[in-house]
Amino acid sequence: MISNDVLGKILAETRDEHVLSKDLIEKILTKEMWNTSKLLDSNALRTIVFKALPGNTICCVNKQELCVDYDKILQFYQEKYFSIYEIQATLLHALFHEMEHVKQTYKLKFEGIDADLIRWSDFSYLREGFQQETKLHKICSLKIFTRMFFHQLSYKESYDTFVFDFYNKLYAIVPKEKIANVDALKLLKKSFENYPYHDSVWKKLYQELSTLLHKSFINGYSYDYATNQVSVPLKEYLVAIHHSDGLKELPFYSENYQEFLERSEKAYNLELRMRYSLPIRPEEYSHVKRLTKLTKGAVMK
Ligand SMILES: [Zn+2]
Repeated sequence: MISNDVLGKILAETRDEHVLSKDLIEKILTKEMWNTSKLLDSNALRTIVFKALPGNTICCVNKQELCVDYDKILQFYQEKYFSIYEIQATLLHALFHEMEHVKQTYKLKFEGIDADLIRWSDFSYLREGFQQETKLHKICSLKIFTRMFFHQLSYKESYDTFVFDFYNKLYAIVPKEKIANVDALKLLKKSFENYPYHDSVWKKLYQELSTLLHKSFINGYSYDYATNQVSVPLKEYLVAIHHSDGLKELPFYSENYQEFLERSEKAYNLELRMRYSLPIRPEEYSHVKRLTKLTKGAVMK
């Protein structure tokens, strides 16, 4: 949770149209890191480092460092014509997303669906998938050897960059990414709700966070007109990494789509089903999809 004192500073910088200052980012994270460190023993984050990061990444966790590419954030704000509200909400989301990954390592200590999904999101499952004698394996091997040949990389380097690319391609359906997105945004919204003064800047930022939350919920799902069914991102992900057996470990799983949907509904409400990438109904899909557009329109006026 962000304290009201820090949240007041975030709102003040937004009111002045300033991208969150490095000082404020450090203040937010130091407090959050300290809370998180209490949960973790050895994996706790120690420092915040401002440095350039590859591709579109604006922050990431590397060992005990939380890295933030501050110049890229400023560049996004200046060049891509994001509103100050969009950029602040996106930045807060990115920072708290990384903190959620740190908390996820703690969640692995407990049994249950959260731990299962986080474990299945690990690269080692992707690696196991590649080692099977499948068509996918053959395609992967070919790509790895092409990389070795053209880029003069070792097998390990080629393999690692391939897995990295594959992960990026799957990103929208990697379970732990959706869980981190949803949990981070729910925590941020809660912090905002605790803040006593709801002026127009507060409202616009809060609305941006709501839009991001709805987008995170619906990300990875797609609707198929032919069958009138919504895709199940968890199933797609497990098939992609060759671990569809994982589905059978879920007590409410069924091979039959309708039964899988109904059993999931008995186990979890809509928000939780989306958080876990489980089946949802077409009308639920279009409802959430509409919400992403409604809130967006209101903010972008
Ligand atoms: Zn992530």
